[in-house]
Amino acid sequence: MTSGVFPASPAFVYSRRRLEENVQQYQKALHVLPVPSSLYYSMKANHNLQILNILRSMGCGLTLVSGGELQIALALGFEASRLLLNGSGKVRWEVEAAVRADVLLNVDSEFDLQQTVDVCRQLGRPARALLRLNLDIDPKVHKYVSTGQAGSKFGLDPAALARVVGVLTSGDCPVHVEGLHCHLGSTIRDADVLRESVRRLLTIRQELTSQGLHGLRMINIGGGLNIDYTRQQDETKPYRVEEEECRHDLTRLAEDLGRAAADEPEERRQLCLSALDMVQDYCKERISRATLDCQVMDVLNQLWPNGALQDTFAALLMKKQGVPTPKELIESIAGLFESPRDDDVTIIVEPGRTIVGDAAVFLTTVLGRKSSGSKNFLVVDGAMTDVVRPSLYGAYHHIHPAAPPSSKHAQPLTSTADPPSGLGDASHEAGRDTSRSSGQGEGRGQSDLQVVDVVGPVCESGDFLGKDRLLPLLSPGACVVVRDVGAYCASMASNYNVRMRPVEVMVDGTSWRVIRRPDTVADVMRPYQVDTDVITSD
Ligand SMILES: *Cc1c(COP(=O)(O)O)cnc(C)c1O
Repeated sequence: MTSGVFPASPAFVYSRRRLEENVQQYQKALHVLPVPSSLYYSMKANHNLQILNILRSMGCGLTLVSGGELQIALALGFEASRLLLNGSGKVRWEVEAAVRADVLLNVDSEFDLQQTVDVCRQLGRPARALLRLNLDIDPKVHKYVSTGQAGSKFGLDPAALARVVGVLTSGDCPVHVEGLHCHLGSTIRDADVLRESVRRLLTIRQELTSQGLHGLRMINIGGGLNIDYTRQQDETKPYRVEEEECRHDLTRLAEDLGRAAADEPEERRQLCLSALDMVQDYCKERISRATLDCQVMDVLNQLWPNGALQDTFAALLMKKQGVPTPKELIESIAGLFESPRDDDVTIIVEPGRTIVGDAAVFLTTVLGRKSSGSKNFLVVDGAMTDVVRPSLYGAYHHIHPAAPPSSKHAQPLTSTADPPSGLGDASHEAGRDTSRSSGQGEGRGQSDLQVVDVVGPVCESGDFLGKDRLLPLLSPGACVVVRDVGAYCASMASNYNVRMRPVEVMVDGTSWRVIRRPDTVADVMRPYQVDTDVITSD
């Protein structure tokens, strides 16, 4: 695939409409709070300048994590009063730039405060700051993206906070604290966790005020809400993978059901046993997981409308699907504020992933198929250098063919909206055959679906975009779609293996335009052409 100017594959393709809808969803939700609020987009999720321009025109501020991001934000015309520089290891020039521009800084540690005080004295200017607190709340996410727990490198723990407050209230401190901040981590699925952190921030605000630290107007509740990366997972999940994940949960459920049935009167006992049968049917691949979920829930509802067993099962379902929407998140914290008592509070939310995450897909071209031992590989031209989240965090990104495959190639991918038959069962068949026979053509092994790892050309075994996916047998040249790559993909892309970071395209209604050209070899070579002494010591 070439456009004649540069390679068009692989490519990131963004939807302007989805981006705007995501922002509007936050803006509408924030409206229901009884206190004023601001939406700061977390720039590290995706720093494409064209995307930033759209967000600026929609009234977003920015949360920044480096002096480089700060320079870009100012160059694009973001107002300094709507920027926040965050970071557990700010370099002096970064603090200087923030103080000069009168940009809000997060105080992350005692040395961070000391450096900021020094910079203020040197420049003869005050600084505006928030205190980033470590509230020791477990956000229940991957350890690489957890930031708000004791033992994390981010924020002030209670002891450090006490000492920092001592410095701030000792008079004559050029750092003026305007509020509190807590960012618990990323990929959070539990609104209660975020609600708890807001509650604690408000309590600490009162305590600090009574200790003489006044003017804590801003409460920055962080970002970190996840998006539902797995919402289409059932379409391409081979039975054996699902089985491994579910076996443990289902065994427990079956045991609980068996025990509960023993204590019930006859009629209810029969209902219990019917649920048990369904679990067994599922294990024998007679019904799909979606059918199981829906029918078992129905039985549990009849038996124990508010029972513990039902809660257990609901939690299993939650684990599978539930991610609160931004609206649900904001609504869940609204009750914590009482106007007019809190009318001197302004809330800041600083989401990244939920603004851009589902606004892009990654298009990549099939180079070929191969197998090794019992493994099948679909080799594509996109790689971990473009979409690193699977390699780095073991993250799931849904992958599917770009166009419905023609009937001679495979069965159409039906939506999960009609779960009982269709792909669910057919795919389970094929997945089983493949895992048994490595696609050596026994019985339905001739099937048009195959369990594959989708891998790129990079020389690393960790280079994969997806593992154990049930996909049609795609031929070289076919286009494959990787979903939900708007956040932490393009911004984490690299030139490793001297690969060119890909083109980025924005679709806007019926038109589209390039919003970042791909790298060229000249781009990669340029920094090595050093003819002057470019290193300074300050
Ligand atoms: C990364 C980051 C965010 C955004 O996190 P998401 O998971 O993308 O919403 C918000 N605040 C701070 C301080 C961050 O470092």
